[in-house]
Amino acid sequence: MSVLIVGSTALDSIKTPHAENPRLLGGSASHAAVAASFFSPVKLVGVVGKDFPKKYVTLYKRHKIDLEGLQIQDGKTFHWSGEYEVNMNNRRTLLTELGVFEKFTPHLPESYKTSPFVLLANIAPALQHHVLDQMRKPKFIVADTMDLWLNIAKDDLVRLIKRVDGFVLNDSEAHQLTECDNVFAALKKIHKLGPRYVIIKKGSHGSILSAPGGNFICPAYPLHNVCDPTGAGDSFVGGMMGYLATARGSIDANIRRAMIYGSVTASFCCEGFGLKKTTTIERADIDKRVKELEKATRF
Ligand code: AMP
Repeated sequence: MSVLIVGSTALDSIKTPHAENPRLLGGSASHAAVAASFFSPVKLVGVVGKDFPKKYVTLYKRHKIDLEGLQIQDGKTFHWSGEYEVNMNNRRTLLTELGVFEKFTPHLPESYKTSPFVLLANIAPALQHHVLDQMRKPKFIVADTMDLWLNIAKDDLVRLIKRVDGFVLNDSEAHQLTECDNVFAALKKIHKLGPRYVIIKKGSHGSILSAPGGNFICPAYPLHNVCDPTGAGDSFVGGMMGYLATARGSIDANIRRAMIYGSVTASFCCEGFGLKKTTTIERADIDKRVKELEKATRF
């Protein structure tokens, strides 16, 4: 089954203490789509400007990502720039140029409207609503977000949370949304807003799921060297949705294993700038790390 993914399609300029890489392929939807593509067919919804390099379109195509929902408009592609501190966890946004995203309205092609799995990757909640409004009875909808929308579009976001099956956010965003210091108390409070599945991401410390079938503590793959964690959260949720879309059985029976696949896909993302490493791997590389992680967490 296919996964429809809407989110940002961006050019990212990333600075770490060791290197600087301008105008890489980035955006929440790009990371999530490439991650999901290892498991299932992906339909991408987004917008880029006329300046969007052809080599990045080729890269999407290499991953067999359906681009019928990718608009190419007059103007500049969304450009985001961030800088990491020495610990590679703390990040400062240096620049956000919306470009063609400023006036973007996602119109779904007919063939997209029946996609059973929908991932509303990080983007303005109003756009996430707009995509949902056009869908016909999707089987499983997951939304991701970021602190910016909690600051400037909280009402829209809370309305969105009521409409989805799963909601994913990181620990500082969960704290901002619920005012709970304790992650389990935060999970409980977010359930009350609507979704049956809530996942709080904790960066290199993995993630925690709260679901009808109980909690699950999902580890991060133990990396010795992090090159650039940009997009790791998007790769995690993209990999998870891609895996779920191909798994037989109920969501509750598969979501824990799906999170492990997402976690491992995200580990590759951290090993290169932007999508550089993720776009060199194959499904077998993911399966190998999943086996290692299984061994390292069995007791
Ligand atoms: P993450 O590392 O998971 O926070 O995701 C980083 C990605 O988010 C980058 O590829 C950025 O292009 C994208 N991004 C940054 N700011 C925004 C924003 N305001 N809206 C949508 N995507 C964004």
